[in-house]
Amino acid sequence: SDIGAQKDRVVTEEEWLQKWEMGSTGFHKEQGHPLLRKYLDVLLSGRSGLRIFFPLCGKAVEMKWLADMGHSVIGVEVSEQALKEFFAEHSLPYCEEPVPGISGAKKLQSTSGNISLYCCSVYDLSSSIVGKFDGFWDRGALVAVNPRDRQRYVSLMITLMEKNSSYLLVTVSYDPNKHKGPPFYVPESEIKSLFG
Ligand code: SAH
Repeated sequence: SDIGAQKDRVVTEEEWLQKWEMGSTGFHKEQGHPLLRKYLDVLLSGRSGLRIFFPLCGKAVEMKWLADMGHSVIGVEVSEQALKEFFAEHSLPYCEEPVPGISGAKKLQSTSGNISLYCCSVYDLSSSIVGKFDGFWDRGALVAVNPRDRQRYVSLMITLMEKNSSYLLVTVSYDPNKHKGPPFYVPESEIKSLFG
């Protein structure tokens, strides 16, 4: 579990924006994630009308799945292009508005109202701005966060958790000396100490 090779690696927001511009988005899964299908019951535990958060959402198709099931979906993503592609690819009309309390940020909201995507850094958010969530789908999110920012990211997620919330986290297991990431390798022991 030596993550030494990745500890100091930084991917800037600018680099993420460039990946979207260049179409270097191999992380995007057109078909959605089989692990969300598999663990959907764990996320929902029979409840309806949940508020579900997608940190570092990209244009994840799972946002559409959950919205179609009647849940409210809230995401955050630095790339406006990604968010616009999401709405376009699902033929969803949306409107844009500024976000009080976050300068330069925008909220893109489906006209039907059940999908709200914040275009800003996840670190700009707080529960006073986005509220708290009943469910979290963290895929390509914790593992995309720069290793030095992990604690800050997880502490923020904890402040966004409603009582009795469920958090599905997908990580990738591999030898961090053979690939520089992202996705970064986050050992299970670290996940335990981060989330407590
Ligand atoms: N969760 C998505 C995307 C994973 S890739 C999926 O499953 O497909 C990670 C995404 O995080 C990229 O789209 C990148 O643009 C975005 N991102 C990186 N740093 C971010 C930050 N600080 N705040 C919000 N989004 C960020």
